Amino acid sequence: MNEVSDSETTMAYVTRCKECKKLVFAYVDRPESQKDCARAVADCIKEGYIVERMTVSEVREGPWCDCKLKKKDDGQEEMFGDEEESSE
Ligand SMILES: [Zn+2]
Repeated sequence: MNEVSDSETTMAYVTRCKECKKLVFAYVDRPESQKDCARAVADCIKEGYIVERMTVSEVREGPWCDCKLKKKDDGQEEMFGDEEESSE
């Protein structure tokens, strides 16, 4: 068996929290979602975040920012994962 984990070869764009420098956002760089990805990355840059690239497995390991949890932010958006695109 030679099962290569997708998460070790797939790259994702990440941004870090301005306060604690931990990860706050990750977007998996897949060919089929390149447009959305580019838009998401552009938004992050616009907001002043530093965008980096790392493998999905690194993203999963984190560390992830928990400032939002401390602040009791309402409805945290989960951008990470395989979201199905719904056409309206
Ligand atoms: Zn933070």
